[in-house]
Amino acid sequence: MTTLPYDYLIVGCGLFGATFARLATDAGKHCLVIDRRPHIGGNCYTEKQDGINVHRYGAHIFHTSNKAVWSFVNRFAEFNNYINSPKAISGGKLYSLPFNMNTFYELWQTRTPAEARRTIEAQRFLGEPTNLEEQALSLVGKDIYETLIRDYTRKQWGKDPRELPAFIIRRLPLRFTYDNNYFTDRYQGIPIGGYTALFEAMLEGIEVRLNVDYLDDRPQLTSMARKVVYTGCIDQYFHYELGRLEYRSLDFESSIEELENFQGNAVINYCDTSEPFTRIIEHKHFEGANSPVTVITREYPKACSGDAIPYYPINDPANQSLYRRYQELAHSTDNVIFGGRLSEYKYMDMHVVIESAMNRFRSETRQPSA
Ligand code: UDP
Repeated sequence: MTTLPYDYLIVGCGLFGATFARLATDAGKHCLVIDRRPHIGGNCYTEKQDGINVHRYGAHIFHTSNKAVWSFVNRFAEFNNYINSPKAISGGKLYSLPFNMNTFYELWQTRTPAEARRTIEAQRFLGEPTNLEEQALSLVGKDIYETLIRDYTRKQWGKDPRELPAFIIRRLPLRFTYDNNYFTDRYQGIPIGGYTALFEAMLEGIEVRLNVDYLDDRPQLTSMARKVVYTGCIDQYFHYELGRLEYRSLDFESSIEELENFQGNAVINYCDTSEPFTRIIEHKHFEGANSPVTVITREYPKACSGDAIPYYPINDPANQSLYRRYQELAHSTDNVIFGGRLSEYKYMDMHVVIESAMNRFRSETRQPSA
């Protein structure tokens, strides 16, 4: 019997890959992590510019209610007490997010929960929601939908909200208190020093090779390990043999502004059609960076064609049924673990990806070894 150099070849150095690699290494397994990009961290990657940790692939705000996940990430970085309270601009006015008593006051000058509830009740959709538009109308009524949701969603997804699944909007909290905290999770924050430093700590003692594309050299790389953990696009793994899954992509347009404070908040959403971008991120506010300049990024959603990076899976019914067929192929593929946002074709927050990697590793260790 020949011994292979590695127990696991981990394809992709994002959150799923790095978490799996850490857990496997802690359990005494020998891992090789590869990534086709020139850096670790996947889309969480941050880069220091003018003393500011810039979130190169969009804002990443860590939040979870899962104590095991929170303890896990705290092994590798200290988190600050950042609370995400984005603002929204529509029709030239500024609104509070998520939808709460502040937003209701800004829209209707209602001051009590009872007044706000009555206003929403009078304009709600009353049936069983079957798509994003109906879900939004059912949750918050016509005014909020038309001011803060409809056009943002069209820009974000490139589709009419009636063609999109309802669950996307269930992510947005609605509350009848004056609380602008976007997330409802118990733990929240940004790793002090940036996500790249967190990944460096997570990968300590683990072999990582960058600029290596698994799909360019699949047989050779596969032969190096007992098992492969694949975190790329599942349809690409199978050479698109059943067709292409749809994703939404983004363009990031960053600039250094020669002033200390550009917009006074880390995240401002642009919810109407007057601007083609969906939000402006001002990175220094995530960690309160002390710099005489500021780095901002405008986010432009776009179709995912050609070389565009896939960011958001479009989980509508057609894509879901195609994904299920790919999943069947995945189930019948020996010695490959598929995980992460692109492999599970799921719109997951960071903590859910970590949870998924933890669960996958747990079920892995229960299996008899090959
Ligand atoms: N959304 C919206 N208006 C906003 C923010 C969000 O209509 O100002 C909707 C939109 O459909 C979006 C979904 O809520 O796709 C989820 O938004 P979130 O900000 O949670 O997503 P992220 O892009 O940060 O993962």
